[in-house]
Amino acid sequence: MTSTRPDPTLQTLLNNHSNLSYEGSKGLVMDGTSLTDIAKQHGTPSWVISAETLRRRALALQDAFKTQNLPVHCHFAVKAQDHQACLAVLAHCGFGADVVSGGELQRALAAGMKARDIVFSGIGKTDEELELAISQQIGQINVESVEELHRLDAIARKMQRRARIAFRVNPDIDAQTHSKITTGRAEDKFGIAHDAIPALYRKTQTEMTGVELVGLAVHLGSQMVTEAPFRKGYERIASLVRTLRADGLHVSDIDCGGGLGIAYRNEQAPPPTMLASVIAETLGDLDVRLHVEPGRWLAAPAGVLLARVIDVKDAARRFVIIDAGMNELVRPAMYDSWHGILPLHTPEDLTAEEVVDVVGPICESSDIFARQRHLPPLKKGDMVALLDAGAYGTVMSSTYNSRPLAAQIMIDGDQQAVIRKRQTLDELLAQEAVPDWLPRT
Ligand SMILES: *Cc1c(COP(=O)(O)O)cnc(C)c1O
Repeated sequence: MTSTRPDPTLQTLLNNHSNLSYEGSKGLVMDGTSLTDIAKQHGTPSWVISAETLRRRALALQDAFKTQNLPVHCHFAVKAQDHQACLAVLAHCGFGADVVSGGELQRALAAGMKARDIVFSGIGKTDEELELAISQQIGQINVESVEELHRLDAIARKMQRRARIAFRVNPDIDAQTHSKITTGRAEDKFGIAHDAIPALYRKTQTEMTGVELVGLAVHLGSQMVTEAPFRKGYERIASLVRTLRADGLHVSDIDCGGGLGIAYRNEQAPPPTMLASVIAETLGDLDVRLHVEPGRWLAAPAGVLLARVIDVKDAARRFVIIDAGMNELVRPAMYDSWHGILPLHTPEDLTAEEVVDVVGPICESSDIFARQRHLPPLKKGDMVALLDAGAYGTVMSSTYNSRPLAAQIMIDGDQQAVIRKRQTLDELLAQEAVPDWLPRT
């Protein structure tokens, strides 16, 4: 993920983000809304998510498959951005959900997604979560191991139900992404080994009465920006399908997973038309129902994190200290990820630059958003936007350092609404109880 190519200029960042532009005194504008106005009204740090961008990307993804004449069922990966308002936007675009916990399952239902459009993935589904999925009669449960298969079969039989399932295949392929977000290698914890599938598939389809096995699922990793692993993974799935069918077994559904990456920095991220054509070429002639589970590609560019400069500290380096930290956006600390940063005020000169480290206020040396970044001069009180924060942002937030959860605002044309109120310290403390048997001072 580290790159030796130079960082994009501010102009390149703007060019790569068609939903962002500078408009004179309004400063940085996202889909028509001044982010300065939002920050002034709601304070910082605050998350802003654009329903318009979400919708635009959802349609672009669907169009990519339509162009290939591929009827594909799209399931948004809820773990990337789980706010019910975002799920409602995507449900309205015809998306279902890919969930990885009972909580996400209930969230997707609460947001108006239909149970039959929900796919349940995840390496550690509890008995209770499986019961919930079965009782709600969701579209598909992706089974991750032979142990889970037997557990699910027994639970479903006890409930006198039949659960629709697919096997998640571990194809043993390197997604060529950050090791913390690759999931399809043999040594990763996900899925059933490719070679074990045929025998298990036969046994399941011919002997088990609690499950209806409809096909295969694969998810190789996240932030994938090259075509090769997708192609290799889907070719493997296609050849497995042919093997299974030659053995007289039924395969009606293939879930292609998510993983399509975006250009955070200067990645040459391929568009969804690449994914659609690879799927068409590898799986298009199998006459199966196809599913995809994108998360990041849809949501990341729809969101920004707004922050205010607390201070500028001149030491061995110039540190721009902002009021958002790794407790809000943990990706840079966790994955060394790079997020574009733009001032909210219109810079006098887009090319006038200082080289600074942009850091958060958390007492951890990993609480750094940018090292040696070229930015227009920033001073105390200026505000900035961290870009591409719509996925794996809010969902990974914590209250580390007793920092209440930030506010979240949705914008949509000329409308806007607070979709999550800023947590108060009182609310945070109210969750705790101090036992009355402790000696008090
Ligand atoms: C995380 C995940 C996704 C979404 O991944 P993105 O990289 O956000 O597209 C899809 N399917 C499964 C099973 C996942 O775990």
